[in-house]
Amino acid sequence: ALPVIYAITPTYTRPVQKAELTRLAHAFRQVPRFHWIVVEDSTTRTELVARFLARCGVPYTHLHVFTPRRFKRAGMPRATEQRNVALAWLRQHRNKRDTGVVFFADDDNTYSLELFEEMRSTRGVSVWPVGFVGGRAYERPLVSGGKVVGWYTGWRPDRPFATDMAGFAVNLQVILANPRALFKRRGSQPGMQESDFLKQITKVNELEPKANNCTRVLVWHTRTEKPHLANEPKHRKDTVVIEV
Ligand code: UDP
Ligand code: MN
Repeated sequence: ALPVIYAITPTYTRPVQKAELTRLAHAFRQVPRFHWIVVEDSTTRTELVARFLARCGVPYTHLHVFTPRRFKRAGMPRATEQRNVALAWLRQHRNKRDTGVVFFADDDNTYSLELFEEMRSTRGVSVWPVGFVGGRAYERPLVSGGKVVGWYTGWRPDRPFATDMAGFAVNLQVILANPRALFKRRGSQPGMQESDFLKQITKVNELEPKANNCTRVLVWHTRTEKPHLANEPKHRKDTVVIEV
């Protein structure tokens, strides 16, 4: 059987949340052997997300953990606690006999179906280009003789792993074999979450290049514009309550 792709999606309540999750589900439900781990940045599992997941057509696990207020400031890494809760869930609920690939799928990115075909064969840690990051049209691992030898990026090329969260996948057994590998708050600079995590589990020369030796962009770090809601009435004016 194909290894299961475990996509870890941190998400938080805001006007576009259901629209974002809808867009993701439309891609994910077309991927065979897929398990969606949705982690809400919330003190509870919200009704909106629970109802959405129950009807989305994707096998899922619904978790939550609230980011402490002191970590919710500009310039601080986002969704650290949510990704770690998902890793803890995998370590508790999966074992040596399970085959799988773990991928971090933020709720606002855009995913090609081909990306999942590429990552499915990840034996250790695989990497590929990501569109619209690092202040460039794309960022990518530089490949020579089938090995990653450097990074094409517009931002901090000194990073040990100059990739975005959407630019790599990890074999489930690597996650299980490194039970202490986590995303860090302490000592972590903004934009260094990926490098801080990856250096706990792999080395640059062990990375497996995907997407035709990292020459194709199959995922985009898109960001969604906030909708204009200035004309929302202060008190409900409509005759019915509608979930958006
Ligand atoms: N996120 C979250 N809590 C927050 C802010 C963001 O759980 O307070 C999630 C968000 O839904 C997304 C991920 O963390 O899945 C990355 O956030 P965002 O897309 O805002 O970061 P950016 O792409 O701008 O770096
Ligand atoms: Mn984003």
